[in-house]
Amino acid sequence: MPLLKEHISLKPFNTFGINAYARWFIELQSIEQAVEFVTDNHYQNQEMYIIGGGSNVLITQNFEGVVVKNSIHGKRIVKETESHIWLKVGAGENWHKLVLHCLENDWGGIENLSLIPGNVGAAPIQNIGAYGVEVKEVFECLEAIHLATGNIHVFHSEDCKFGYRDSIFKHEAKGKYLITSVTFKLTRKDHQLNTSYAPVAKAFEESGESPSIQKISKKIVEIRSSKLPDPKVIGNAGSFFKNPVVSKEEFEIVQEMYERVPNYPAGDGKVKLAAGWLIEKCGWKGQRFGEYGVHSKQALVLVNHGDASGKKILELSERIQKSVKNHFGIQLEREVNIL
Ligand SMILES: Cc1cc2nc3c(=O)[nH]c(=O)nc-3n(C[C@H](O)[C@H](O)[C@H](O)COP(=O)(O)OP(=O)(O)OC[C@H]3O[C@@H](n4cnc5c(N)ncnc54)[C@H](O)[C@@H]3O)c2cc1C
Repeated sequence: MPLLKEHISLKPFNTFGINAYARWFIELQSIEQAVEFVTDNHYQNQEMYIIGGGSNVLITQNFEGVVVKNSIHGKRIVKETESHIWLKVGAGENWHKLVLHCLENDWGGIENLSLIPGNVGAAPIQNIGAYGVEVKEVFECLEAIHLATGNIHVFHSEDCKFGYRDSIFKHEAKGKYLITSVTFKLTRKDHQLNTSYAPVAKAFEESGESPSIQKISKKIVEIRSSKLPDPKVIGNAGSFFKNPVVSKEEFEIVQEMYERVPNYPAGDGKVKLAAGWLIEKCGWKGQRFGEYGVHSKQALVLVNHGDASGKKILELSERIQKSVKNHFGIQLEREVNIL
């Protein structure tokens, strides 16, 4: 089993760049190591927190238990037909590198999810999504170690209860499993190209190119790079809040205040609003409070300008939630995980 390290700064392991400490830290590189670790009596009573790329977590305090860095690698085709391949991928693989690997092999399905930071193991946890696609659309199954027993469980799509930035792993299964691999069903031909998202459609219209999975990825990389702050330059975890889905009545209250409020149909007569727009209208965009604040180009992204504490960023997020609630009557829900 790899060495358990003591008193480790988590700064290199979270994209917010928060400098909190873990009492214990271990990096696991295989399923065998992971099973051995979770079933070791010595650690069974310790609190554990699993971390992948640390791009969807805000660390608000030192952690007295064991932080487990999942570095289980590997990619393997487990089944193929003329039209599809089933690719089993280690949870510790970098997500965007996986996208590039698929594009090189002309396997379609995850090109719209290009440049999302983090690792494969976390992708199903919040059902990552971008530019009109969610990972649940290509998800076949995942394997996870049940932390309390060391048993390996397989979760299929229906077990995961995927929703918008949501799954069972944010609710009843939260903190109970270590995901070791995810299997994706990808197309080998007749790719389902999705250019429905306005900025992607516009980019193709302007360039006059006809889309392919490789070109969609390239355009999305360009769009994302121009819009979102790079965590290597300024600490952040992407969208801090989910876009709220509201009732028709709630929507009409906002529309009475702002006739041109951006909105998208969300089924069952409900409406999805842009959380960033709501936050911006409350005057938060670009606000800076010393070491932390709200990004100047995208109000949905909270940032660490230098050496902010996670607690301060959490407090800021609560102030934002309160002001959106007061102004619009809408409760914003956090997307980022809090440790
Ligand atoms: C600039 C930027 C842009 C982003 N854009 C998007 C976007 O477009 N769409 C989107 O959906 N997300 C986006 N995100 C959020 C984030 O990249 C994704 O949620 C990503 O899947 C997180 O992966 P991670 O490995 O970094 O997870 P981490 O932050 O390490 O972990 C996230 C959660 O999952 C748990 N976890 C991680 N790995 C495992 C595992 N193997 N087993 C069990 N539990 C685990 C952790 O305990 C934690 O609760 C963005 C983030 C940034 C910084």
